[in-house]
Amino acid sequence: MLKVNGIDVFYGDIQVLWGVTFDVKEKEIVVLVGANGAGKSTTIKTISSLLTPKRGTIQYNHLRLDHLPPHKIIEHGIVHVPEGRRLFSEMSVEENLIMGSLYGKAKANRFETLEYVYRIFSTLKERRRQMAGSLSGGEQQMLAVGRGLMSQPKLMMFDEPSLGLAPVLVQVIFNLVKRINEEGVTVLLVEQNVMQALAMCDRAYVLENGMIVLKGTGQELMADDHVKGAYLGI
Ligand code: ATP
Repeated sequence: MLKVNGIDVFYGDIQVLWGVTFDVKEKEIVVLVGANGAGKSTTIKTISSLLTPKRGTIQYNHLRLDHLPPHKIIEHGIVHVPEGRRLFSEMSVEENLIMGSLYGKAKANRFETLEYVYRIFSTLKERRRQMAGSLSGGEQQMLAVGRGLMSQPKLMMFDEPSLGLAPVLVQVIFNLVKRINEEGVTVLLVEQNVMQALAMCDRAYVLENGMIVLKGTGQELMADDHVKGAYLGI
């Protein structure tokens, strides 16, 4: 479904991704793990076309994504749930959700999708008139996920959805990602919560200093000595 092929990405003169190559097959959950600064966010920002690779290609089914504008990426069914949620804090919960359905078919179907999102997140329905900035951290993360669902994505990319949440909520978020996947959405997940992410994914890649250094199934990587030492503290 998605093929990232040898991308080099720079901020100004500084190169931060070096020939990053990986793929995501339809219906999979693929996880990208790595330490702070490894280049995980940069990778998914590049897929979303917020950044442009200097070399390499990004292919989605039969379409080249790497020079399309970001709104076209969404129209093709890819959505990015960003790190830190990036909500419109002075807009209501419902207005934030509607902002997720600005284009194409998603716009035409927005009220049906809103009902679907409210079925998954009953708290968001209860708080639909409340300002997004007044929600708790967990609720804000759910709103960010709900806003992503409003674009009716085929591929959902989550950037550290568990960041800053209490352990009990981390599990709620992981269960939610799993549920969204079971409903037919392919998932690319970036996480520092390595153990839980590897336990729930189909396949994973390890990114270090802007390069993919390991890949395998979640089980294979959990058993890998380097992963155990560097990320699992075993
Ligand atoms: P984190 O979990 O901390 O977000 P990450 O793996 O997502 O880590 P990136 O945010 O992709 O890492 O950062 C990769 C490298 O690029 C880091 O060295 C970071 O300092 C640098 N970087 C990120 N954003 C910018 C920017 N806007 N300008 C310059 N350098 C940047």
